[in-house]
Amino acid sequence: MAEYSFKILVIGPAAVGKSSLIRRFVDNKFSLQYQFTIGVDFMTKNVEYKADQTARLTIWDIGGQDRFKMLRRNFYDGAHGALVVFDLSRAPTFSQMKKWISNMYQIMQKKIPIIILGNKADLISEIGEVIDRNEPHQYADKGSSFYFETSAKTGNNVEKAFIEITQRVIKKKN
Ligand code: GDP
Ligand code: MG
Repeated sequence: MAEYSFKILVIGPAAVGKSSLIRRFVDNKFSLQYQFTIGVDFMTKNVEYKADQTARLTIWDIGGQDRFKMLRRNFYDGAHGALVVFDLSRAPTFSQMKKWISNMYQIMQKKIPIIILGNKADLISEIGEVIDRNEPHQYADKGSSFYFETSAKTGNNVEKAFIEITQRVIKKKN
């Protein structure tokens, strides 16, 4: 049985790969077809955050285009931690992502542990760097957060990111 149960949010601009990261983590699957997330969705998965120690994560996914205030309030309510995602192939998503963070803190009226994810890292070899990757590193450091480059397509660093956020949530609790 899981020792802990946490609510983890995945937030960020539209089409950065939030739903794909969750699908990769939960089902170990990926599709290039874009499936719009409507409203709010959630999935549950146990994560082994330390040898023989598991936590049950309820992972909440929100449509990037969702602007309903009530829905947002329920979404953020009681969250323990968040993965905040931008798209390494689309530079403007980095500053948009920062707005998601300040908006979240404003709605929650407190800070929770977050991890910054630069997703679609697999595309960098194709299209080159469109963003100075020191920036997200420095931004994460400043907020005592952590930065990972992920790919929902290859699965690189996806599980690591969920383990890292779980460990940080536990650390904050204790
Ligand atoms: P969301 O709106 O943030 O939930 O984004 P989705 O998960 O729906 O992904 C948007 C699009 O980007 C889809 O076409 C995905 O197949 C694609 N995508 C998501 N993650 C990756 C990735 O790591 N690499 C690549 N190449 N494409 C990705
Ligand atoms: Mg989605």
